[in-house]
Amino acid sequence: MTIQWYPGHMAKAKREVQEKLKIIDVVIEIVDARIPLSSRNPMIDDLTSHKPRLILLNKADLADSQLTKQWVQYFEKKNFAVLTVDAQLGKGIKDIPMKVRELAKPLLDKFRAKGMNPRALRALILGIPNVGKSTVINRLANKKITKIGDRPGVTKSQQWIKVGKEMELLDTPGILWPKFEDQDVGFRLALTGAIKEEIFDFQETIVFLLNELKTSYPERLKERYHLETLAEDITELLDDIGTRRGCLVAGGLVDYDRTAEMIFRDFRQGKLGHISLERP
Ligand code: GDP
Repeated sequence: MTIQWYPGHMAKAKREVQEKLKIIDVVIEIVDARIPLSSRNPMIDDLTSHKPRLILLNKADLADSQLTKQWVQYFEKKNFAVLTVDAQLGKGIKDIPMKVRELAKPLLDKFRAKGMNPRALRALILGIPNVGKSTVINRLANKKITKIGDRPGVTKSQQWIKVGKEMELLDTPGILWPKFEDQDVGFRLALTGAIKEEIFDFQETIVFLLNELKTSYPERLKERYHLETLAEDITELLDDIGTRRGCLVAGGLVDYDRTAEMIFRDFRQGKLGHISLERP
């Protein structure tokens, strides 16, 4: 799913999220573990400041595990609850209800102080497109989605999913737009599939990727493309990779388009290993 964001859409998305937040106890924000800052909505902190928030670093299976650990520390230092998740395989999902309970302890204490039995905690999944919101919801629902009726204040189409005894989840996630202003953020979003790569100049996106790989994962580049050394100049590096891989046009010149597409495919298919494109 790719959404084109225009100012009108952004305003509408914001209103919808604000509406949902009214009846929510805890926000579960999903980010891409490979780009935890670039895959966040620029307004998320303001929008959800009045709610306890759990951050899921999803797609951890694709990320650099060393860096993911550093990101966990980064968010914990900012006083967020954090979990590392691979929603595709369901790893880390079972810890979510417990974390949500911990986060909502003040609220539960308030119920008890009033002599009320704590009700199930109401959670909302929030994030930019393609970070894995639906996958997480399906995992939490454990495929057995129990529709438990409407709650006051919500449109009829919204349903709650029961997760164990103590948590209820809105069946539709809150969707917000990513950051667009910074070009590097755009490259990261395009490379990880959060936005259509056609939005950006493809060659430029690959140049960004090659620079990142050359700086942070030089050995992977050498290994994958059988290079002894990595050329300083990125055009030269593209030349070397294209030549090695036989991406040539008539006359033996390197076909840059095909070379760039091959590198992009290798990255997307994980052939360059677990790679994160952002560090704390
Ligand atoms: P949404 O737009 O946020 O609801 O994202 P989806 O749940 O539709 O997921 C977008 C894509 O990412 C799908 O192709 C999922 O299969 C994939 N995906 C979701 N979670 C993970 C994960 O933890 N690891 C990997 N490798 N892929 C994932």
